[in-house]
Amino acid sequence: METTESFTQYKSRINESLGNEFLRTAMDNFAVAYRTARKKAFSDIDVDALIQEVAAIKSDAILNHELLLKQFISKAKENGIHIHPAKTAQDANRIIATIAEQTGSKKIIKSKSMTAEEIHLNRYLENKGLEVTETDLGEWIVQLRQEGPSHMVMPAIHLSRYQVADLFSKETRKDQSNEIEKLVKVARKQLREKFVKADMGITGANYALAQTGTIGIVSNEGNARLVTTWPRVHVALLGIDKILPSIIEALTINKVLPKNATGQAITSYVTWITGPSECKNMAIENKNVPTASIKKPGQKREMHIVLLDNGRKAIAEDPLFAQVLQCVRGGACANVCPVYRMVGGHSLGYVYIGAIGLITTYFFHGRENAANLVQNCTNCGACKAVCAGGINLPYLIKEIHSKILDETGHPLKSLLLGKVLKNRKLFHSLLRTASLAQKPVTGGTPYLRHLPMIFSKEHNFRTLPAITDTPFRDRFKKHYKPPANPKLKIAVFSGCVQDFVYPEQLEAAMALLKRADVGVAFPMDQSCCGLPAMMMGEKQAARDVALQNINAFKDLDVDYIVSLCASCASHLKNHLPDLVRDYAQNDQEIFSDKVIPFSRFVVDKIGVTFEENGQASGKTAFHSPCHLCRGLGVKKEPKILINASGHQYVKTDEEETCCGFGGSFSANFPTISNEILTRKLDDVENSGADLLVTECPGCVMQLRGGALKQNRNFKVKHISEIIQPTSKLS
Ligand code: SF4
Ligand code: SF4
Repeated sequence: METTESFTQYKSRINESLGNEFLRTAMDNFAVAYRTARKKAFSDIDVDALIQEVAAIKSDAILNHELLLKQFISKAKENGIHIHPAKTAQDANRIIATIAEQTGSKKIIKSKSMTAEEIHLNRYLENKGLEVTETDLGEWIVQLRQEGPSHMVMPAIHLSRYQVADLFSKETRKDQSNEIEKLVKVARKQLREKFVKADMGITGANYALAQTGTIGIVSNEGNARLVTTWPRVHVALLGIDKILPSIIEALTINKVLPKNATGQAITSYVTWITGPSECKNMAIENKNVPTASIKKPGQKREMHIVLLDNGRKAIAEDPLFAQVLQCVRGGACANVCPVYRMVGGHSLGYVYIGAIGLITTYFFHGRENAANLVQNCTNCGACKAVCAGGINLPYLIKEIHSKILDETGHPLKSLLLGKVLKNRKLFHSLLRTASLAQKPVTGGTPYLRHLPMIFSKEHNFRTLPAITDTPFRDRFKKHYKPPANPKLKIAVFSGCVQDFVYPEQLEAAMALLKRADVGVAFPMDQSCCGLPAMMMGEKQAARDVALQNINAFKDLDVDYIVSLCASCASHLKNHLPDLVRDYAQNDQEIFSDKVIPFSRFVVDKIGVTFEENGQASGKTAFHSPCHLCRGLGVKKEPKILINASGHQYVKTDEEETCCGFGGSFSANFPTISNEILTRKLDDVENSGADLLVTECPGCVMQLRGGALKQNRNFKVKHISEIIQPTSKLS
């Protein structure tokens, strides 16, 4: 991609991707197959422990990178390798072109290297008049199409065999069959000649081992071995983040890399190179080859390593972003991303794709290329859950978004939102005014019958709820009577959606809490949790509301702060402490420690049991909110509640897949949000469930709104609303 595009242009490119039926089916099939394959590959391994080990290895190596690099360089030189540190992408390109010139190399073959993609190496070398041929099948395909890879390890995943057959027919000037085996044969035949005639081979590397000066290359096709051994010159280009102490650490990483990348137990090849190999029979046909570069049998080939910095040293120094360098480039963060599943890598990345691509684009390819991308994230946390490097990807994406806005200026709508959220009284009075103003569009129903003019047609994919006449806070103030001798004392954190849109969800919970003799406080100064501000890159506003909430709950004598909104609970527990670390004098830890999501509180703290009332309704599916299952690790409790309250829980394939809401995400990217939602609703319908339950008002808004709009034959409820009135308390 050459030019920076506007947000509108970006969205229209996304809509093109969404309209590409083959892409959609391929990505969807891959997402489903990957999930199963990964599970199987890790079935007898404690994957979380392994990831922690890998994260620690990478983190230590980054911390000690100066020393390790020194050792690596010295050992590699001893092994006869020429070492070239490259500070920038331009330096690396220039160095490689110079090596080509000095060795009389005109024809270059390459194996897959994301680092080479990062610096746009092919384009640079081709502009110098050199012939560069990718030899990985997928990379060759995208090279012929003059586009970049759409996945870090499966570059041509976006293409059908029919498209590849057309491409190969054009390339070979001969009609080619669309059978995959035949296409592979065509590629093999075409590339063989390139291998034979190549002067120079360029590879990347997955590992650089300080102890021995060795590089390691992990691959599935034999091409990488040919690239490193056939031509008389081998150049390996690698980022300095590939440095590790020894093969021990590399082998540990290799335990996770293929399983996480593609769900394979192992890759076909792992190649270790400790210096140039010997020439057995080197025929030099090219008369332009300098004498020094002509090798006779028995002599060694020429091997060069280009060690690329390109901003990595600065990242390594950054206390927050250093973890970015823990990436092992398996691409799992794309495989599980609901947005990637809908739009593919060309719309969710610049060079690097998926979650890590949203972050590294800022560092390697500039904020102008990252500005749109970082907004295209639902904050679902699926990437973080599988990241082999243990990187907090969703958090860093939000940090980059906020950084970009600080550097370039905040758009008016997010500035306004930030300002309104910071001023609770203003915010709440605006909501009350909106409740009156919406009458013409609700017609007295609980829904907006049509969207106000400010929304485009694309936003009309779900039926939106009306703002309530009487928010929960007013109802609480008027009707709440505390129990005389409460067994437990809690405060409720409502979040704005339940307070002002779905107060009935909180009222249903209040009925249960009353029967359980739980004393409830509802501090009136509580406000929005701040997550919407974070989602829009308004970190300062998120910090301000966090401090307001801490103060609102500070002097309460309560055991827990219960939230019926998984997103609020996760934000308050996981992000709030870091957000206000320098401002809240440790009150934030006390506050966050007390926060507990509703289902966990009911099951673990009240110990509610339910009468076997024999009223089991039909099948009930559960949508596990991203912030509940991944953000808070709450998985079993809602299902206990569903079954115990007389409903029959059924598991759906996509139970833990994002619903596509993501706060401001669904407003910014309604077409993607709609597609993610539809996929989710299809899954529920396929399960035969007549009720879908969830534990987040935002998810209720998305799922219920979509189910209504699409006339689905199931209802959507918050989990607090399904608790039977006959429930007994233990
Ligand atoms: S948080 Fe979810 S939507 Fe965002 S990049 Fe990660 S997987 Fe994709
Ligand atoms: S960020 Fe994590 S999941 Fe994504 S490619 Fe890197 S290691 Fe893999």
